[in-house]
Amino acid sequence: MSANDIKAVVKDISPLYIDGVWRPGSEQQVSEDFNPLTGDIYAYVAQASAQDVDDAIAAAYKARDPWKNMVAAQREAILIKAADIIAARTDELREVIIEESGSVFGKAMFEIGYCIELLRVAAGLVRQVTGETLPLTAPGQVGMTIRQPLGVIAGIAPFNAPFLLAMKKVAFALAAGNTFVLKPSEYTSVIGLKIASIFEEAGLPAGVLNVVPGPSEMVGEILMNDPRVKMVTFTGSTRVGRLLAAQAGKSLKRLTLEMGGKNPFIVLNDADLDYAVDAAAFGIYFHQGQVCMASSRIIVEAGLFDAFCEKFAAKASALKTGDPHDPSTIIGPLIRESQCAVINGHVEDAVAKGAKLLCGGKHDGSLYQPTVVAGVTPDMKMYGEESFGPITSVIRAADSEEALRIANDTSYGLSSAVMTNDLQKAFDLALRLEAGMVHINNCTVADEPHVPFGGIKNSGVGREGGRASMDEMTELKWITTQLGKRGFPF
Ligand code: NAD
Repeated sequence: MSANDIKAVVKDISPLYIDGVWRPGSEQQVSEDFNPLTGDIYAYVAQASAQDVDDAIAAAYKARDPWKNMVAAQREAILIKAADIIAARTDELREVIIEESGSVFGKAMFEIGYCIELLRVAAGLVRQVTGETLPLTAPGQVGMTIRQPLGVIAGIAPFNAPFLLAMKKVAFALAAGNTFVLKPSEYTSVIGLKIASIFEEAGLPAGVLNVVPGPSEMVGEILMNDPRVKMVTFTGSTRVGRLLAAQAGKSLKRLTLEMGGKNPFIVLNDADLDYAVDAAAFGIYFHQGQVCMASSRIIVEAGLFDAFCEKFAAKASALKTGDPHDPSTIIGPLIRESQCAVINGHVEDAVAKGAKLLCGGKHDGSLYQPTVVAGVTPDMKMYGEESFGPITSVIRAADSEEALRIANDTSYGLSSAVMTNDLQKAFDLALRLEAGMVHINNCTVADEPHVPFGGIKNSGVGREGGRASMDEMTELKWITTQLGKRGFPF
């Protein structure tokens, strides 16, 4: 839709943020952004053209030396101020997260609280970009490594935790001395643009952060191929991650990929049943299951299987579904009603092949009921495919070894959990689980600003958070100094 078509109906179009200026797309393109619950238009968002993306990269490129050379105390102060601004603007940000992404009240507040902590953690790392000294072979030679900013980094963010996941990329990139171009999800562009407005208010110099919502393929291709962009950090589906990795094969761009998951939640016979039920429910139903770490495969040792299924289905059925503004609502809308068809497809396929639907399996608009399917086997779609909704499989395992085999029987490897009071066994499983993250007596959904978050197999390449982000977002340089003269062979 062009700006001219809609200017009769709306006054404001969320503009792009490039080089410290809020501006319309140079080709006047605008996209509609919908409220996931009502399906109504929530906002109109300016769409970047190829020229706009180029301008954003040019602005970040121009800003990179002044930013990297700004004294640490000033960069820290901006990050801390951004945290304070988020705290002061909590009500506004919470409303955007709820209205634009369908987050329930509690999840929106979680993202806001997380981002405040994240920025403080990032500020604390500004002076921690450290190297090491290295003993070297030649007498009188001293070696060291130093870490230097890469320059311009671009981030591509998903819709599901749109504030937190985009902010994670931006905050650590800036803390490490880089400048940034952010492409938010087409479903959550307003939240992405809020990040720019927070940093603008915090006094971030023009060009250090640029936000360019736009056609994903076009924007992605430019970011992946422009030599001024030294790294792309992506969070999203494995399908898109693969496309970017193929492009990186040509451009040799540094790339981190945080992608999908099909995360095993193992319950052993000696686990506390009620605690396991509560942990599993949070693990799958937080944000309607639209979480990369969602406990989408619950593997229960035979001795507890029947009791677990009964209690878990009862708990799932009782979760309140509805208006995300209501603080007591647990299950809000999926990002789009169309996602319900994917979940229905998984349910129908599983039931047709012999699985048992214990609860749910229906939806009202974009509100999908919490759903539990028992007896899921490898031939069923939902055994291996990410459903990205409030639906999980419960799978019986004869013993802990079979539970481990099933847990690892996936192309993904993001998060995992083991519920047991036998810590010896738990730790043994933790060492053998094929996942980037293992949680013993906790659910699969866990993240903190300073931990190395990420997956293996088809879930990810690289780690994000704290020191891990600082390492990914800096170049390691080896420097030697020869005191006196060394000998050479000729
Ligand atoms: P998605 O892959 O559809 O989109 C992610 C981002 O990529 C969006 O900004 C989108 O516009 C952009 N994109 C789409 N096609 C592109 C292309 N051809 N080139 C460049 N960019 C392109 O993912 P989504 O639906 O927004 O998010 C859900 C997925 O993200 C799930 O698979 C989930 O598991 C995953 N996820 C992973 C993590 C993690 O940390 N591992 C966190 C959150 C979400």
